[in-house]
Amino acid sequence: MQEQKIAIVGAGITGISIARACHEAGIAYDWYEKESEPGGLLRTDVVDGFALDHGFQVLQSGYSELAEMYATQPFQSYKRYANGAWIIKKGSRSLLSHPKEGLAPTLKTLFNQDISLGDKVKIVLLQQFVSGKSDAELMERPQLQQSTLSFLQGFGFSSKAIHYFFKPWFSGVFLESELQSPASLFCLFYKAFSKGGALLPPLGIQQFARDLTSTLPSENRFWGKEVHPQAQGEQWVIEGRVYEQVVWAAGSNNPQSPSPDYRSAETLYFAAESDADLGIYLALNAESTTQVQTFSIPSNVEPSYAPKGQCLWSVQIRPESFGAPEQDVWSEVQDLLGISLTGRFLRRYTIHQALPIVDTLNLRSTPHLNSSGSSMAGPQFGYPSLQSAWNSGKEWVRIASENQ
Ligand SMILES: Cc1cc2nc3c(=O)[nH]c(=O)nc-3n(C[C@H](O)[C@H](O)[C@H](O)COP(=O)(O)OP(=O)(O)OC[C@H]3O[C@@H](n4cnc5c(N)ncnc54)[C@H](O)[C@@H]3O)c2cc1C
Repeated sequence: MQEQKIAIVGAGITGISIARACHEAGIAYDWYEKESEPGGLLRTDVVDGFALDHGFQVLQSGYSELAEMYATQPFQSYKRYANGAWIIKKGSRSLLSHPKEGLAPTLKTLFNQDISLGDKVKIVLLQQFVSGKSDAELMERPQLQQSTLSFLQGFGFSSKAIHYFFKPWFSGVFLESELQSPASLFCLFYKAFSKGGALLPPLGIQQFARDLTSTLPSENRFWGKEVHPQAQGEQWVIEGRVYEQVVWAAGSNNPQSPSPDYRSAETLYFAAESDADLGIYLALNAESTTQVQTFSIPSNVEPSYAPKGQCLWSVQIRPESFGAPEQDVWSEVQDLLGISLTGRFLRRYTIHQALPIVDTLNLRSTPHLNSSGSSMAGPQFGYPSLQSAWNSGKEWVRIASENQ
C-alpha cells in the first residue's frame, strides 16, 4: 500500500507524542500548531525574570510511560518537589513527609499531631495497596467505582485525615473540592505520586515541551497559524497540502464530538523576599472556609523560576473562589502562615479547560482511526493527565502504522 502522509494538528503533549512516535516509526507527517512554540497547556511566561507557568503544573516522574524518559538527559536535570506536604492551619503548620526526604522531616512526621498514628499507618497501607496493582487492575476493581471520598472513608481514614490531608491535596489534583472523582482515578494518581516525584524543568514547565521537540526535524513544522483541514473526497487538504489522515491533538479545540466537559484551575503568582521556610514542600490549606487551596515556592525547587534573591510564590485558588482579589489572597496566605510578608502581585492565570472530566467508563477508551480519515488523540482517553495524553498519541500512531 502507498505510504499515507499524516497531518498532526496541535503541538501540546499529545501532538508531541504523535510526532515523536511517527518519527521513530519512519512515518511521514506534517505538523501544524496555532502558536509559534510547542507546549499547548504547558505554557510559561517570563515576567520581570520570573517564570510563570499557566497554572500550577508539575511533571510526575512516577507515570510509568514517562519514567524511562526522565532517567535520560536533559530530563534528568529536572528538579523535584519533596514527597510530602505542609498541613497549614491558621497560624500553625505541621509536616507530613516521606522517609526518603531524610531523618529530620521523618521525625517531624512521626510527631505530627494533626494526623494520628493510625492514619499514618493507613497512608502506608494505601501506598502498598496501589503499588501492588497494575493501572488496568486499579481501573477495573469494582471497589474503586465509588467516589474518592467514600473510598477513603471505607479504607478507614479519619475525617481529620481526609479534611486536613486528602481534601486539600486532591482537590488541587482533581480540580474539584468534594473528592467526588472516581476512586480508580485517585488510586492511579496516588500510585504515581507514591512511586515518583513532582518535577519542574529549568525556566518553566514549557521547557519540557521544548526538550521533547528539540530532537525532531523542523522542516515539516507549520507553526504560528490555526488550521482548518477541509475534506476533499477521501482526503484532507490543509493550505494546499493533501493528507490521507488528519489527527487532531488540539486539546479542547478538537472539532470532533462528543467533546468532554472540563474542570478549571486558577493560580496567582506573587514575588516576595522570603520563602517563610516552606522549603520544597507543597503547602495544603486545611482551613476549608478560605479561598486558598494550596501554595508553594517553585523557585525553591528550581531556582531559575525567580531572579536571584527573590522567591516566586504560586498560590492555587479553590474553584468556589475563582476571581478572588489578589490582595485578599495574599492576606490570607500571611494569615494562614501567621506572618507578615510583603508580596508583589505578578499575574493571575485562570485556565477554563484544564482537565477533561472522565467517568469510570471511558477510563478504558483508546483512540481509533475514523473511516473519514480524521480522528483524535488526547488525555480524555484514559485518565486525564500528561501520561494519558502521551499514551494516546503513541497508541494512535501504533494503530495508524498497522493501517498503512
Ligand atoms: C493548571 C493545570 C494543571 C495541570 N496539572 C497537571 C498535572 O499536574 N499533571 C498532569 O499530568 N497533567 C496536568 N494537567 C493536564 C495536562 O496539562 C494536559 O492533560 C495536557 O497538557 C494536554 O495536552 P494536549 O496536547 O492534549 O492538549 P493542549 O495542551 O491543549 O494542546 C493542544 C494544542 O493544539 C493547538 N491547536 C488547537 N487547535 C488548533 C488548530 N486549529 N490549528 C493549529 N493548532 C491548534 C493549541 O494551540 C495547543 O498547542 C494540568 C493542566 C492544567 C491547565
